[in-house]
Amino acid sequence: MKVYKTPISIMGFTCPNIDGTVAKGGCVYCENESFSPNLSKEHKAFKLNPHLSENPHLDKQLLQLESQYERYKKRLAKKFGAKKFIVYFQSFSNTYAPFSTLKALYERAFNLPDAIGISIGTRSDCMSDEILEFLRSKKEQGKEVWIEYGVQSAFDETLRAINRGHDFANTALWIKKTKNAGLNTCVHLIFGLPNETQQMMLQSVQSVIDLHVDAIKFHSLYITKHTKLARDFKDGFFVPMSEELYLDTLIKAIKMLPPNIILQRITAGVQDDTLLSPQWCYDSHRQKNRAKEALKKAGLEY
Ligand code: SF4
Repeated sequence: MKVYKTPISIMGFTCPNIDGTVAKGGCVYCENESFSPNLSKEHKAFKLNPHLSENPHLDKQLLQLESQYERYKKRLAKKFGAKKFIVYFQSFSNTYAPFSTLKALYERAFNLPDAIGISIGTRSDCMSDEILEFLRSKKEQGKEVWIEYGVQSAFDETLRAINRGHDFANTALWIKKTKNAGLNTCVHLIFGLPNETQQMMLQSVQSVIDLHVDAIKFHSLYITKHTKLARDFKDGFFVPMSEELYLDTLIKAIKMLPPNIILQRITAGVQDDTLLSPQWCYDSHRQKNRAKEALKKAGLEY
């Protein structure tokens, strides 16, 4: 049976790369409002971190989780006849909060009707042994558990250039620990990062294959207006990747994947006026069709 992901964005979650813990301003392409444009001012004012002694908004967060899940569930059931779901904690770093808060949210998500498990989007430097141990116990009870790590590149010079705030060794360490805990790992890689050649992009693919990840999401770097990258673009210091080069890289990357690695995504973009460049990342429908056509010509299917 096909299982669908319900994306969830919980108020208060942020990132150590935004709040100044490891860096300020976030990754150069990060426009935080573009992740969650509907968050209210009150929600933006409240920010979680693992050291908070109490969380006065937990009840509201739990209600938010339930209502977003129900909304997506209904939509997916109507559109695709979906019956089973994975609750996907998508926006920001969803392990960057007091453990008691995480435990309460994950526990509620595991028990939502028709949810077979959860998928948690985060950064490797926000993971902990305590969180992995809790999730391992859920997996042992038969729940589906995925951790989605934003890896982006295996090159430390690139990670420094995008102000990522951690290196590839940290990513590799936590992917190994996650695998050792018996959990599934999905990694996100971006093609077209500043100063990267195609050879480097494909080397990053090989590096995550070597870590025995279970799934990969690929997308190209696009620029939204209120980011550091937008300034670099306007000043002529950054040129986005062409669609042709992206598709060529994507095809080469897919051909490298062993059959046991699931390909979860091949495109991304933003379909509103926050997109600055490249324009081929605007229309997601067109982008997907172009990618599928190119894959078909290369003898691949998605
Ligand atoms: S890790 Fe994600 S949320 Fe944090 S700064 Fe980078 S893009 Fe933004």
